[in-house]
Amino acid sequence: MKTITQYLSKLFSASTEASTKRMIGFLALLGFYPSSKTCGNCGWINQELKLSDRVWVCENCKKEIDRDANAALNIRDYGIRFNPVNAKVVH
Ligand SMILES: [Zn+2]
Repeated sequence: MKTITQYLSKLFSASTEASTKRMIGFLALLGFYPSSKTCGNCGWINQELKLSDRVWVCENCKKEIDRDANAALNIRDYGIRFNPVNAKVVH
């Protein structure tokens, strides 16, 4: 078992765990992680969300979601979940 940072360092030949950590952050910010489309309450992903939808209602848990606040909380939670100190990759 390795940390996700060790795994990605090997995968992408990144020089250090710190650079891999930064890369994970960039990937999230570049949109590979659907921070706006993911319900922060239950995790359901709204595939139909448009850029013009500033507020939407989760079809799964019915929570009314502010797009920007939801995205900010999801990115925060993503960072906590993928903290290289805690995260593990199982092979
Ligand atoms: Zn939901």
